[in-house]
This record gives sequence, C-alpha cells and structure tokens, in this order.
Amino acid sequence: MIKTENLTKAYNGKKAVDSLNLEIAESDIFGFLGPNGAGKSTTILMLVGLIEPTGGKCIINDIEVARNPLKVKEIIGYLPENVGFYGNMTAEQNLDYFARFYATMDANEREKRIEELLELVQLASVSQKVGGYSRGMTQRLGLAQALLNNPEVIFLDEPTTNLDPEGVLQIRQTLKKLSDEGKTIFFSSHILAEVAQVCKTIGIISNGTLIERGTLEEIKRKLDVRKTVKIIVETLNEDMPKIEHGDIIDVEYEGRRAIIEAKSDIRDYISRYLFEDNIGIKELRIEESTLEDVFMESVYKGGK
Ligand code: ADP
Ligand code: MG
Repeated sequence: MIKTENLTKAYNGKKAVDSLNLEIAESDIFGFLGPNGAGKSTTILMLVGLIEPTGGKCIINDIEVARNPLKVKEIIGYLPENVGFYGNMTAEQNLDYFARFYATMDANEREKRIEELLELVQLASVSQKVGGYSRGMTQRLGLAQALLNNPEVIFLDEPTTNLDPEGVLQIRQTLKKLSDEGKTIFFSSHILAEVAQVCKTIGIISNGTLIERGTLEEIKRKLDVRKTVKIIVETLNEDMPKIEHGDIIDVEYEGRRAIIEAKSDIRDYISRYLFEDNIGIKELRIEESTLEDVFMESVYKGGK
C-alpha cells in the first residue's frame, strides 16, 4: 500500500533521508521509529506530497505521489507533528471548516461525518472551544481531521509525543479501531514503547537510513544474536557476596542486590551458590531486554 524507492531528501547537500526503501502492506500498522533528527518527518512530508524528494519516489496504492499528488490526497489522511486549529471555534466548527475543502461532501454529509468522527475520538460531548483543549484533546481532534475524507492510508507524525498516559491510550485505541477497519496506518515516534504497543511491523531509521525492518519479534531476534541475560538477584538479609561464574560478563552490586549480565541463564548456579552459603533469596529473576534497549542497540549499531 505504501512504498518508497530510494527515497532521498537533501537539505543544502546534507541528506535528511538517504535512499530509503520501505514497503508497507495494506491494513498494517507500521511504526516508524527513530531518534530526533533521524528523518521521520521529512519522510512523511514526502509521502503525503508536501515536499518533493531530491531523488527516488513514493508510491501509495500504486500512485506515484510526486506525479499525482491530488489523487493521492484523496486516499490519505495526515496528522502533522504540530497540528493547529482555530482556538476560538469548537471542534465541530473546526472540522466543518476543513471538511469544506472536500468538494465531494455536502452540508448533510459533512455534519454526519463530523458527528461520527467526534464520537470516534471521544470528543462528541465536548462543547468548549478548542483554545482551551489539552494537548491530548488537540491530538485527537487532529486525528479526526485527518480522517475527514475517510482515507485508506493514515500518516501520523509523533501522535503520542508529550501526551499523558491516558491520552496515549486513547490514541492507541482509536488506531486499533481504524486498523480493524482495514486502514493502513503509518505511525512515527521516537519512543519505542509507544510503537510497540500498537504496531504490527516496525522500521528503525537513523541518520536518514533504515537500519532495521520487520516485525517487532523479528527485530528482537535479529539483535539477540549476541544475546546476554540480565539477572536480578536480591538476598533476604545479608549483603550480596561476590558471585563468580565463567559466563558472567558484568555484575553491579548494590547492598543486598546484584544485577548480573551473563552469557547464559545462570540462575540455577546462583541459587545453589547462595543456598550453600545459607543466604536466603528474596528475588531471583531474569529481566527481559526492554524494547527501549533493543532500539538503542539498533540505533547504536546503525550509527557506527
Ligand atoms: P525527525 O522527524 O526524525 O526528528 P526530521 O525529518 O525533522 O527528523 O529531520 C531530519 C534532518 O533534516 C535533521 O537533521 C533536520 O535538521 C534536517 N531538516 C529537516 N527539515 C529541514 C529543512 N526544512 N531545512 C533544512 N534541514 C532540515
Ligand atoms: Mg519529526
């Protein structure tokens, strides 16, 4: 549904996006992850036809964006990084204002569509003017705006950044609903955990280049080749004795606790060792590498 071929954008000779090749299937929720300045917004701006590539192309539903931007705009919705509304109007008035740009909708259709959308983004019962909205509410209204034309493909640039946990959850729920309806969703973020909660596939961009691509599990697996295990152990009363084992790479001692990085799961060894020393164990567990770790590792590898 979404495809880029050697997509490149240079600003003053410096490449913000460098030969990017992406392929996103219909009804996927794709998470486009990368640290600030990686090239996420630039990529999205090219995909939605707001800026022109320096090289390569974007294809949406078999339509080349730069050649036929108007046709593409009919089937896409876009929530920019910083969405703006008229503060002295209500949500309904704002949406009606934007809906008028779609010549295909008459007043009745507009009204019906706006009602549906405000329901979807949980703003139906809000009568206050948009100027008084929280960031979460503004983002949800932005999402409603992006959906006015009932698009097949929705681009969201950091929709959950700076939202409180409830705001994040509401956006997430709405995206899941849209995905269930078969929409294709392209979601950018610099926070892995947010993408991991909703996205089916993810791509990681660093310095304008795609450095990882696949399902979350695939990416984790790929990075797990040099797998290490993090073991957290805490004694009941005594200070943690020094633990030695051939597979241990590193240990951090903090009073009764130790955080062990090892080449294998040596929990059996640790429990026997402490048991033989008559030391009670309060906690002994493996800490799964968090998605943030996977992400950082990936970016780090890509940056080298
Ligand atoms: P992200 O959205 O991942 O944070 P951006 O796409 O906004 O990253 O930016 C990628 C790089 O391109 C950054 O180094 C940024 O400074 C540069 N850049 C973005 N827009 C412009 C512009 N209009 N003019 C010059 N440089 C830009
Ligand atoms: Mg950005």
